[in-house]
Amino acid sequence: MAQRLHYGPAMTGLNFPDQVLLDKLAALLGPQGFITDRDLIMPWLTDWRERYHGESIALLAPGTAGQVASIVQLAAEARVALVPQGGNTGTVAGATPPKDGSALLLSLRRMNRIRSISADDNAVTAEAGVILSDLHDAAAAIGRRFPLSLAAKGSATIGGLVSTNAGGTQVLRFGPMRALVLGIEAVLPDGSLLEGLATLRKDNRGYDLRQLLTGAEGTLGIVTAAALRLVPAVASRAVAWAGLATPQDALTLLRQLEERTGEAVESFELVPANALSLVLDKIPGARAPLEQACPWNVLIEAVDAQGSADPVAALEQALSTAIDQGIVLDATIAASEAQAAALWALRESISEAEKIDGPSLKHDISVPVAEMPAFLDRERQRLEARFPGSRIIAFGHLGDGNIHFNLLPPADADRTAWIDRHGAAASAMVHDLVVAASGSLSAEHGIGQAKLAEFERLTDPVRLNALRSIKRALDPLGIMNPGKLVPLASGDKAQ
Ligand SMILES: Cc1cc2nc3c(=O)[nH]c(=O)nc-3n(C[C@H](O)[C@H](O)[C@H](O)COP(=O)(O)OP(=O)(O)OC[C@H]3O[C@@H](n4cnc5c(N)ncnc54)[C@H](O)[C@@H]3O)c2cc1C
Repeated sequence: MAQRLHYGPAMTGLNFPDQVLLDKLAALLGPQGFITDRDLIMPWLTDWRERYHGESIALLAPGTAGQVASIVQLAAEARVALVPQGGNTGTVAGATPPKDGSALLLSLRRMNRIRSISADDNAVTAEAGVILSDLHDAAAAIGRRFPLSLAAKGSATIGGLVSTNAGGTQVLRFGPMRALVLGIEAVLPDGSLLEGLATLRKDNRGYDLRQLLTGAEGTLGIVTAAALRLVPAVASRAVAWAGLATPQDALTLLRQLEERTGEAVESFELVPANALSLVLDKIPGARAPLEQACPWNVLIEAVDAQGSADPVAALEQALSTAIDQGIVLDATIAASEAQAAALWALRESISEAEKIDGPSLKHDISVPVAEMPAFLDRERQRLEARFPGSRIIAFGHLGDGNIHFNLLPPADADRTAWIDRHGAAASAMVHDLVVAASGSLSAEHGIGQAKLAEFERLTDPVRLNALRSIKRALDPLGIMNPGKLVPLASGDKAQ
């Protein structure tokens, strides 16, 4: 297995921030944008899952793209690393600075203006620090919607969502962030400002820089704003919860719903009995959606944008046919917005319930959709047999072939000690099984620092070399979020 590398200055040839640089940054940003108060910095030095802790002598919070460009120019001159950060909800510690304090934390949260929004253009231009739920509200105010949502929507920012190519619960119909980004404004590692915010649907001028920056995890530049696609607002929606015996039944149901309701199905989220029990146990106010507990469940959302079809009737009919066929064991359709929200809360609370429950091993995997049911059955058994007492909690976006395949240590074990002892081997086994199934060890969360060693171990050298070449070409000094996403090769030390 690949060694976990230490990415401090000794390895990268970068410098620690000195007083000269700090004075210049303080003068540039003023007290609002140059923060050295430990109490204000501390919450941003640990990742959302609280597994990685970093250090930074200052938190830089620019208010404009011009200030970001000046920060990057100063950092490049001084050869000091920058770690961009949005809402810090990423799950692979991509926004956590290194432990040795060699990097400066660059928060985009103050840049939170919606610069323009147009129903005619079906587009919005939002600064990097705009929070996802605020973008949803702005789109709703003009009769449109931004069709990407996830449980961290109250904190995740546009810059972070672009930089991780976030997925979420509507990928089935609208694709991930990549499919919604029309343009990007970003500061490149030499401090120049790439102005690419035109909301063009067609633009064939060679290499697509906006796609290169999407999913780059801050390693190729700092996203300062993005132009994003909007779609018509929802006229009506139906939210249902169905209980099933197997993941294969869930996939059969999805395909039937697609055939019967056209493009209406936007979300199809798989929830096993053990994930639902965890939510019912840990989240105050959570209530079981069905009378009988079923081995597997799906949360389904079907929508209508034109106001011509009735998604509730369509879903009701399709589910009752599936019950008659024995595919669905039991089902309920929300009778009000409050009930719909309560069903969604069950799904969206799983990560929070896991966090409250204690440490577990997280794997954000994808395999071809048709393979997923067999993968879940077969590999859960193999893992639980190899690590006796451990349990798999496998939930998420079945329709995208993306499941969060998490492993809980045995109930009677000290979880932290168990993970220290078996975690690396268990995760390696999961990733090996995923690769054998032609899958990906990171479906939507990215690589960050948490998956870096496994990414290096399991990635084709041709692909790794191409990534390294792009990184070297755009960031020859290596100041952009070093130690994340792109594993260093020997010879990558800055000259
Ligand atoms: C409860 C919960 C549920 C989640 N569900 C999903 C889900 O369904 N699907 C999914 O895909 N993700 C999910 N996530 C992960 C997370 O919300 C996304 O990765 C999100 O995109 C991160 O946004 P952020 O603003 O918090 O970014 P951060 O965590 O601050 O940063 C993430 C990465 O982007 C970089 N970055 C941030 N801002 C910029 C910028 N302006 N320019 C360049 N680089 C930048 C950082 O350096 C880091 O590498 C979930 C997280 C939580 C906590």
